Amino acid sequence: MPKKFDGKVALVTGGASGIGKVTAQVFASHGAKVIVSTDANIKGGEETVRLIKEAGGEATFVRCDVSRAADVEALVEKCVRTYGRLDYAFNNAGIGPDGRRVPLVPIVDCPEDIWDRTIAINLKGVFLCLKYEIKQMLKQKQGAIVNTASVGAWKPVPGFCAYVASKSGLIGLTKTAALECADSGIRVNVILPGPTDRTLLMENLTSAQPADKAHMMSMIPMKRLAQPEDMARAVVWLCSDDAAFITGLAMPIDGGMTSG
Ligand code: NAD
Repeated sequence: MPKKFDGKVALVTGGASGIGKVTAQVFASHGAKVIVSTDANIKGGEETVRLIKEAGGEATFVRCDVSRAADVEALVEKCVRTYGRLDYAFNNAGIGPDGRRVPLVPIVDCPEDIWDRTIAINLKGVFLCLKYEIKQMLKQKQGAIVNTASVGAWKPVPGFCAYVASKSGLIGLTKTAALECADSGIRVNVILPGPTDRTLLMENLTSAQPADKAHMMSMIPMKRLAQPEDMARAVVWLCSDDAAFITGLAMPIDGGMTSG
């Protein structure tokens, strides 16, 4: 039976775990060939590819640090060399509010290296991905891109300065890209996930303070954490022709968190 993404090629950054891992699998379940990418967690990336192949899909792992231009250029080149084209990109790689596993800090105590690292991966990383993905999609005169921001962009929390700045910046970057590509057949949107279960970010936050999970749920009107599948289904829908007239959209997927 034909699938809606038969013959299509999707690229997923941050595909080694959490939201990216599940979204890569959902793209493949709809027939897309998938390039799964991540930087350090190679085992996780290869595991995503294995799961896709076991389910009858097609995928290739490519290592890429999204903060390095040469890596990102090579990633898109490898995608085109392997599968001939690039139809969909999910620019999802990112690091958490603390930049790494250190306590959250107010601006006055935020180490410069955490600021730099967070902006380099979460914001510059998406800029670099857009740059090389759009170059390829312009040749094809079509494509759809989804970036991953966070509800933190609309509901800033003290102690998250670099993260909030990076994710807020992504919304402006997405809208700029959407306008630049609007008459070229390329759509660019951004999702704003709420707190999402089964991700490293959630593991890091809750292993330090187990009470955090209950606190987070109490802030969500629907009284549950998001699941990676909630994000994956929205990303795949945004890439599909069902969303053919949607570009520049910042879409919260947060159980109502940003509505109040
Ligand atoms: P995760 O930590 O499980 O996944 C992050 C992925 O990004 C991993 O595959 C990791 O290897 C990869 N990555 C990190 N640095 C990279 C780099 N320099 N180059 C390439 N890949 C890199 O967490 P997740 O929650 O699935 O994160 C996915 C996205 O969702 C992130 O952008 C995160 O900010 C965003 N987000 C997550 C939540 C949540 O509650 N988990 C909420 C809002 C937004």
